Amino acid sequence: EAITVQELANRMAEKGADLVKALFKMGMMVTVNQTIDQDTAELLVEEFGHTINRVSESDVDIDTAVDVDAPETLKARPPVVTIMGHVDHGKTSLLDALRGTDVVRGEAGGITQHIGAYQIKTKGGDLVTFLDTPGHEAFTEMRMRGANVTDIVILVVAGDDGLMPQTIEAINHTKAAGVPMIVAITKADKPEYNPQKIRERLLEHEIVVEAMSGDVQDVEVSAKSKAGLDELIEKILLQAELLELKANPDRAAEATVIEAKLDKGKGPLATVLVNRGTLKVGDILVVGTHSGRVRAMLDDKGRQVKTALPSAPVEVLGIGGVPMAGDTLAVVESETRAREVAAYRQEKATAKRTTTAPASLENMFSALSAKQAVIEYPVVVKSDVQGSTEAIVNALNKLSNDEIKVKILSSGVGAITESDVSLAAASGAPIIGFHVRPNAKAREMIERNKVRMKYFDVIYHLTDEVAKEMAGIWGPER
Ligand code: GDP
Repeated sequence: EAITVQELANRMAEKGADLVKALFKMGMMVTVNQTIDQDTAELLVEEFGHTINRVSESDVDIDTAVDVDAPETLKARPPVVTIMGHVDHGKTSLLDALRGTDVVRGEAGGITQHIGAYQIKTKGGDLVTFLDTPGHEAFTEMRMRGANVTDIVILVVAGDDGLMPQTIEAINHTKAAGVPMIVAITKADKPEYNPQKIRERLLEHEIVVEAMSGDVQDVEVSAKSKAGLDELIEKILLQAELLELKANPDRAAEATVIEAKLDKGKGPLATVLVNRGTLKVGDILVVGTHSGRVRAMLDDKGRQVKTALPSAPVEVLGIGGVPMAGDTLAVVESETRAREVAAYRQEKATAKRTTTAPASLENMFSALSAKQAVIEYPVVVKSDVQGSTEAIVNALNKLSNDEIKVKILSSGVGAITESDVSLAAASGAPIIGFHVRPNAKAREMIERNKVRMKYFDVIYHLTDEVAKEMAGIWGPER
């Protein structure tokens, strides 16, 4: 599993000292002779722009085979959009209204199949994929499993209401994921509609929309009257253009499971989003711990399709079992190999269940992007009163320096909830509780996801502890 820095340097034909330097930037103090774990090694390989196929663990560990597409093979792909916001603010209605703008559906009169995602063709001929499960739970669940399929988040806020708890949660989750946001102020047909009030409230969360001279796109829409839908789609396409979303369509497919179920007649069914390559009927595949062959594929209009391109959602028939949302589907060259990989993963999954490795600082920082010049120390803060929360946030921000910055993923008042835990887990952050404790469900999630949780009653104990952890990242040498 582990490899010394020098050995990795040799394999990449790079200088050991350069790897040490890169590791330092990632927040790890190691010498060339020390060993680093697989995740860190992979980050380094990517950082140096190399492609390696691991030979250890035999060839079955396809998860760790780093295989990057050459730039000239990349072609533009449609954006994948998730809709988030408070309950009853109109997420489902907006998803339905957007679905109604699909020119293909208009022409062919296709029937709607809820497969977890759908794709529309705009009047201009562009494609946009929407995840059909609104809300940040699904979004964060996927992130916790290492799957980042969303390119753009639409934050839905009802213009006759205000920023509600789940609106704030959605903002925090989106920010933590680093995904660009478009604000849709919906229910524009209502007499109480007051979009300006929403824009002003968003400022408090450091979201400055275009109408307030900021750079976050916002749009006034109504799912009922359909006003603003075209504008929303235009803004999505504009954002997608800025992101320069690309994938290589001419290779063995890789896809992410969006949802999966067991159908009495058809057997296991999984909706996947193709990440790269083209998924074809007849392809041999591995997904999670299951192997199989694509027997048939259905799109969101219930039509049989033979191929699926990057960003396309399709329901796949022919998998040997029911995979989990967030699992990666990979096409392999033979059935023998598919079974081999599936068996290997099963073994690994069993081994993982029997070992209990608490989330460590190392894990936390190895997850950080090597490209970040300043290291971020993410935290989730909860306290019993607003005054304390503000005091803690201020005190924590003061601990930041040129090399390491405290990043408050969210700060709030009240008991620690499932949403706090999922946010912390997805970002590898500890939760800091001041005079508050987790509720029962949150406690269970903390244990399951091995999230680090610290309680304090005195603010300077809290800042001392965090300062110590931050210093620890640099090792005793500094
Ligand atoms: P969700 O919980 O965020 O998915 O919200 P829904 O889409 O279920 O909408 C909640 C309620 O608001 C429903 O009664 C909808 O009919 C209503 N609603 C949603 N969008 C609009 C809109 O644009 N205009 C009006 N007048 N009502 C809307």
